[in-house]
Amino acid sequence: MNWAILEEHLLELIRRTSTDLPGDVERVLRRQRRREQPASAARWAMDMVLENIRLARQHAAPLCQDTGTLLFYCRLPVNVDPARFEKAARRAVTDATRLGILRENTVETLTGRSCSSNVGAGLPVFHFEAGNDSFLDIRLIMKGGGSENAGSQYSLPEARLKAGRDLDGVRRCVLDALVKIQGSGCAPGVLGVCVGGDRATGMEFAKRQFLRELDDASALPVLAKLERRLFREGQALRIGPMGFGGASTLLGVKLGTLCRLPASYFVSISYMCWAMRRRGIVLAPQGGIRKWLYGD
Ligand code: SF4
Repeated sequence: MNWAILEEHLLELIRRTSTDLPGDVERVLRRQRRREQPASAARWAMDMVLENIRLARQHAAPLCQDTGTLLFYCRLPVNVDPARFEKAARRAVTDATRLGILRENTVETLTGRSCSSNVGAGLPVFHFEAGNDSFLDIRLIMKGGGSENAGSQYSLPEARLKAGRDLDGVRRCVLDALVKIQGSGCAPGVLGVCVGGDRATGMEFAKRQFLRELDDASALPVLAKLERRLFREGQALRIGPMGFGGASTLLGVKLGTLCRLPASYFVSISYMCWAMRRRGIVLAPQGGIRKWLYGD
């Protein structure tokens, strides 16, 4: 692996992720805009979002002032050292911050002092897995703090919601979470949901749902059906863009499931704002670009 070339590719991956929203997200935003009444606050909000996207792309400027948490999902060949990869990625994040591609947006928790480079304890976040082929598959999500605040977790059964340990119980939790969000976290947004797992793996797997393109469906028919139903019922709440009221509360609902212990039944819900920054790159063993993911 040529680490200098890898760092250059990672810097470009960060630039694209920060400044250029993926085509699937923009298409759904445009579709939702058409559903809002002309001259309504909701239509105005959607116009502002789309203008924001256009300007960020035109000027190669960050899509939002909130850089968000950088989440790297990396499938590496067994002969690529994850620790060395992490070092290269941290340098790329530092460079991206210095160049203004990322705003300084990471602070030490206890002092509130800026980490200045967006690199610090626990940040950025890396998820590694060993791949079966010789290519590196690297995906990056930037997840804003406002949307992160909107996440929640339920432990079923939940008497308040009359939610039992079944998919109807899951449905009740997801709708309850959406009602509580009330458009904060910059709606319209995407719900990533994990049914099962433990408290930590459930939240992680819920976030991992954001790697899926918005128009896809779960491979499990029963979850695909619930995704469609929750999307429909979520839109019917009419919370609308930024909570202004309107047809566009959601851009998508993505459900996944993990095994659980008999004693536990968690429903973990992560929320992603309209600024769903996600890009990916596949690299050949020597560092050449094989393809970009999540294109236009
Ligand atoms: S929630 Fe999303 S759109 Fe809103 S400020 Fe944070 S990153 Fe930006």
